[in-house]
Order: sequence, then structure tokens, then C-alpha cells
Amino acid sequence: MSLLCLGIESTAHTFGASLVDDHGHVLSDVNDKYRPPIGQGIHPRKAAQHHSDVAANIIGQALAIKNSGPLLPDTIAFSAGPGLGPCLRVGATVARALALYYHKPLVPVHHGVAHLDLAMLGSGFRDPLAVLVSGGHTAIAVHIQKKWRIYGETQDITLGNLIDMFARSSGLPSPGGPTLEEEARKGTKLLKLPYTVKGNDVAYSGLLTAASRMLMKGESLQDVCYSIQEVGFAMLAEAVERSLVQTRKKELLLAGGVAANSRLKEMLQQVAHEHDASFHAAELSKSGDCGLQIAWSGQLAFRSGITVKPSESHVVPRWRIDEAEVPWIPIK
Ligand code: AMP
Ligand code: MG
Repeated sequence: MSLLCLGIESTAHTFGASLVDDHGHVLSDVNDKYRPPIGQGIHPRKAAQHHSDVAANIIGQALAIKNSGPLLPDTIAFSAGPGLGPCLRVGATVARALALYYHKPLVPVHHGVAHLDLAMLGSGFRDPLAVLVSGGHTAIAVHIQKKWRIYGETQDITLGNLIDMFARSSGLPSPGGPTLEEEARKGTKLLKLPYTVKGNDVAYSGLLTAASRMLMKGESLQDVCYSIQEVGFAMLAEAVERSLVQTRKKELLLAGGVAANSRLKEMLQQVAHEHDASFHAAELSKSGDCGLQIAWSGQLAFRSGITVKPSESHVVPRWRIDEAEVPWIPIK
């Protein structure tokens, strides 16, 4: 009989719940996104209110698998951080209540580690150079002695922030990524934008300011979106290429919400190809925040003996990825 883990995601815009078995077989993955009005970012309290409103329904759906009646999870995992405090607390509270009610172990999961775990599951990789690009992370990491160590990262805002903040200021819907990518496809003119790479690190805030200014000065939205992608992604590709050469890894893994972007995948695939490395990006349906990432990471953490008492299960809004214990890689 396989063990079932119920994973609960609530770090930012998404409230999700998923049931997955210990072989990575997905029984359910139900998610609902809070969408701020055009021109506004995620308001933590409003997002948390959204999560409270949908939680019961989402969890009910995740547990009510077709034709077989409600299933009982063997473990309950929740995203303990990093993320927006009020949002994290909704997921944690629901998870604690379920763990106590069902008398099942509670497993704290690092949201960024979970993005990587889910991408790893689909890749078959054992020891990749990992690139995590999302709303909360822009990081290049390698797994050494039970932790993901940061090899390069953003020195200011994340790639997801760059995209979402530009989208917000130019009247595009939230999250900005999909629309920005659509507009970028129609762009033809490469505008001169700040290109800031320092060693294996990148910085995006100068690019954001310059891009917003170019739009105000009358450059077309399509050309500005195209240029943001070309310059912003090329910066990351340079840092990734240098990291690949330095670490001599032969696998390149791309994870997180921005991994949905075809142009980014194309650029990083090219980098991998030039250095004889295999490339794998998280599947489109599994790149953004979802309950499934927490359920699968919860399975791996539980297998490694990681649990927390409900009374001690605090959320950690600023939990760095290199502070999280990840003893399960390579996955046995
Ligand atoms: P996550 O926090 O992992 O759910 O990632 C969310 C981030 O991914 C947001 O900043 C989105 O704008 C971004 N994103 C989603 N789809 C795309 C896309 N097609 N291209 C670029 N960024 C995207
Ligand atoms: Mg995320």
C-alpha cells in the first residue's frame, strides 16, 4: 500500500492542495489563484482572504478522488516559507488542523526546494545545476552536502518581479509573464537596456526602470516586452553558462513560474547544448506554484524523517533556500 501525502500551498497568489503517493503518482492537484485588479500587485491580506475563502473547497476536491470516496492522507505537508506571512499562515493553520484531526504527521516544506523537487521528478536528473526563476527566487544552485548551495542569484529583484512590476505599471493583467511573452513575440526592435551581470549574479532593477521609461517615451509595448526578455534572459543565460563551466555539471534544470517561458527555455537549452549538458525544464502545468510541489516535496522530506509538531510549526516568511535541509538528493 502506498503512502499518500496531502500537500498544501499558500505562499503567495495560489492556494492549492494535492494528493500524491510515494512514487510520485499524482492523485489530485487542485489550485485557485488570487488575481489582483489590473495595475495592482498582490496585497498580502487580500490574498490571504482569498485563500481562507477557497481553502475548504480546494482541500475537499483534492481529497475527493473520482469514484472512490474521500481518501485519507498519511501525512500532511505545507509550505512553511518563504512567502507572504498572512498567506503562509492560512495554509499552515489548515495543515495543523488536518494533522491534528487525522492524527497524522505534519511536514514543513520549503517552497523553493519544492519547485526544484517537482522539476527533478520529471527530469530523471541526479546532480544538476539548478536554475530557479519565480516570483520569489532567481537563483542558480548546486546540491552539496544536504543543501542547495547558491552559486549565483539576483542582487535586487527577481526575474518574476521584473516581469510582474513592468506588467503592472503598463496595464497588463497579473501575473504578467504570459501576456509579456505574448507581446514579446510581436516585438522586432531590440532596445538598449541595462545589462547587469556581476560574476554569477544578476541585477534587474535598472532594467525595470529603463524599460518603463522607454514605454513612457513612446516605444511600442511589443518592442519593450521583446527587449526585456532578450536582455533579462541573456543576463541569466550568461550567469548560468559561467556556473555550468565552473561546476562542470552535465545536467541543467530549470524550475519555477518563469520556466513556463519558451524564449527562456530556448536560451538555456542552447547554453546546455554548447556545454554537452542535458537540459530539462519543469512541465508547463508544473512550473508555477501548485499544491503538487508541496505534496511531492513533503513525501521526500517525510521519507528523510522530517516532521514538526503542530505546536512548533511556525511559518518562516524569509526562509532562504540554502538554509533548508535537503537530505534526499540524489533521490534514492
Ligand atoms: P511562481 O511564483 O513560481 O508561481 O512564479 C510566478 C512568476 O512566473 C510570476 O512572476 C509570473 O509572471 C511568471 N510567469 C508565469 N508564466 C510566465 C511566462 N510565460 N513567461 C515569463 N514569466 C512567467
Ligand atoms: Mg513559486
